[in-house]
Amino acid sequence: MSLVSLLRSSAAFATLVLALAGLAGCRTAPKTGVIVPRTGDEIVVAGQFVHTGTSVVLWMDPGGYDAYRVERRFSPLDKSDWETSQTEVRELTSPNRYNLRRNGLTTEELERVRGGGWDLATLQRVVDQLVIHFDACGTSRQCFNVLQDHRDLSVHFMLDLDGTIYQTLDLKERAWHATTSNSRSVGLEIANLGAYGAKGKTPLDEWYVQEGSGRTRITIPKRFGDGGIRTRNFVARPARPEPIAGVIQRQELFQYDFTPEQYRALVKLTAALSKVLPGIKCDYPRDAHGKLILAKLSDDVLKQYHGVLGHFHIQTDKVDPGPAFNWDYVIDNAKMLLHGGMSEAADLTSMGHMRSRFD
Ligand SMILES: [Zn+2]
Repeated sequence: MSLVSLLRSSAAFATLVLALAGLAGCRTAPKTGVIVPRTGDEIVVAGQFVHTGTSVVLWMDPGGYDAYRVERRFSPLDKSDWETSQTEVRELTSPNRYNLRRNGLTTEELERVRGGGWDLATLQRVVDQLVIHFDACGTSRQCFNVLQDHRDLSVHFMLDLDGTIYQTLDLKERAWHATTSNSRSVGLEIANLGAYGAKGKTPLDEWYVQEGSGRTRITIPKRFGDGGIRTRNFVARPARPEPIAGVIQRQELFQYDFTPEQYRALVKLTAALSKVLPGIKCDYPRDAHGKLILAKLSDDVLKQYHGVLGHFHIQTDKVDPGPAFNWDYVIDNAKMLLHGGMSEAADLTSMGHMRSRFD
């Protein structure tokens, strides 16, 4: 007797059919109380989880930073409430550090989204810039401390020294990080001490140690504890060991580079954002020769600009993300990720097989 005829002739066949039907049913009808798995690389865009391919800690995750809360995060707990916070910290004038994106929405749409009812298509119409900052704090924990507990400011993403991305608000919110571009942009603060003029002592002396043999290490000062870095015993090093010099807004500046871990994460985040919010073109502001513009864009140019840009492209009083930021590295590699691992040119002409360096 063959196996098939045995199955047909026995109750086992009926059991097998029922089991297969049950398995198929699992896919279409989730069981009550079963936890939906997450892989830990998701960002939240108008309520949707979007993969990035790199580590992301959301505001609702353990160890996350929640910009929806009105309390201070790092003050003593019994003084963290809004009433006490506003009396203790003068700069805190509003319990919410974000508000509603209103640009380009009809009155009906505003009424719909004001209660939280954003959909992805509406957000895709509204958001067309990704603004890059350095946090001048050195770590994402300290950055959140300044924004949330001291300044009444906010930002969607923080990128820590070890490449961990923290998302503090859904991208549907209008975060407060870049004045005139707040309504149309996503904001990212990269942990980095920032850029300084050539003369005098700077905080860089305290944070960066030249170890010899061309190696430089970041040493978080003891008053910041372990800095809140998520990767245990992480040793942070700038991608290039020497300070990088450059001119932004006609000022000569020096700055240590970001870490390779930050660059790798940023490439993936940039590609993911550009894909899910296609208004954000994967490019930076260029002059007539295709070179990076190193000063504030004119109001007209800024208005027309859709893509990745620095805080200094928006305000004359800002220089971040500074002269060390490697725009080509981020944009070129993000483009390769976006175009199936090939460069945009290779993708268009079907020539070559340029694999991304970040697969
Ligand atoms: Zn900034």
